[in-house]
Amino acid sequence: MTRSIRFCPHCGEPSLQPVSDKSWRCASCEFLWYQNTAAAVAAIIVQADDVLLAVRAGAPQAGKLDLPGGFVDNDESAEQSLLRELDEELGLRGVEPHYLCSFPNTYPYAGIDYKTLDLIYWIELPRRPHLRAADDVAAVRWLPVDAVPLEEVAFDSVRRALGYFRAHRKGLRTA
Ligand SMILES: [Zn+2]
Repeated sequence: MTRSIRFCPHCGEPSLQPVSDKSWRCASCEFLWYQNTAAAVAAIIVQADDVLLAVRAGAPQAGKLDLPGGFVDNDESAEQSLLRELDEELGLRGVEPHYLCSFPNTYPYAGIDYKTLDLIYWIELPRRPHLRAADDVAAVRWLPVDAVPLEEVAFDSVRRALGYFRAHRKGLRTA
C-alpha cells in the first residue's frame, strides 16, 4: 500500500488514514478519497516470429524490457490511447490493433504505487517498419517470441501477457 499519501485533497490537513487498499478517510473533515485502478494499454507487435520490445527510458525500471503503451488519458478510448502511444513512442501509424487480454499491474512512481489494469492488444505487421524510439522508449529490440528473456521484462503484467500470447498465438485471427 502507498504510505506517502497523507494530505487531504479537500481540507489540506495531513489527516488521511487508510480505510482499504484504495481509499483513505480524512480524520479532520471526514472526506473519503479513492485511488481507483487506472487503465493502461500495451501492444504485442509481431513480425514473422519476432516480437517488438521497448527498452524503458525512465523510471520505474529504466533499461528493462517493456511493451510499447502507456496510461489511458481522460476521455480516451483504449484503442485511441494505444494508437496515440504507438505514434508518440515509435512513430508507428496505420496499424490495426486486436484486443488480446488484460492483466493487473503495480506501477511504482515517485513513492506511490499506482494500480493499473493493463489492456493488451496484438498487432501483426507484414514487414519490419522503420521505427523512431522516443518519449518513454530508449530503444527498440526485436526478439523471437519464444525467446524473450522474461527476467529482463519490467512488469508482471507484461510477463503474463507475453506468456498468454505464446500460449494462444496459434488460435489468433486478424479478421
Ligand atoms: Zn480533510
